[in-house]
Amino acid sequence: MDMKDCIFCKIAQKTIPAELLYEDDLVVAFKDIKPIAPLHILIIPKKHIESVNDLTSADVDLAGRLIMVSQQLAKKLGTAEGGYKLLLRVGRDGGQEVPHLHLHLLGGGPLKEIIGPK
Ligand code: AMP
Ligand code: ZN
Repeated sequence: MDMKDCIFCKIAQKTIPAELLYEDDLVVAFKDIKPIAPLHILIIPKKHIESVNDLTSADVDLAGRLIMVSQQLAKKLGTAEGGYKLLLRVGRDGGQEVPHLHLHLLGGGPLKEIIGPK
């Protein structure tokens, strides 16, 4: 896919709107438009990387940053103590719909455990 057609690149570049909660030099975080939990945030790299499959050793700091930002947001938004899930979908079988790497932060209350084969 061409990066200029990527919806999450457009959110990172602020050419389409989103409820931004965090931004630094490498990462932005925003509210998921169709939340599946009381708290549902997406943390994405500003750089277009399709999925975990496409990370390289040059992206180690970036991958760590995604997790550390999720930890900070979980604390700030009050779900750190109760707990939360971090989800990275990868490719077709993983159910990834948007081909720009994104870490889901899901929390705000107890969550169902529903992963299994179709
Ligand atoms: P995934 O299935 O892991 O690729 O998740 C994609 C997520 O992106 C879904 O939870 C969508 O609700 C969310 N999403 C898609 N478009 C937008 C958007 N414009 N703003 C915020 N979240 C979005
Ligand atoms: Zn992108």
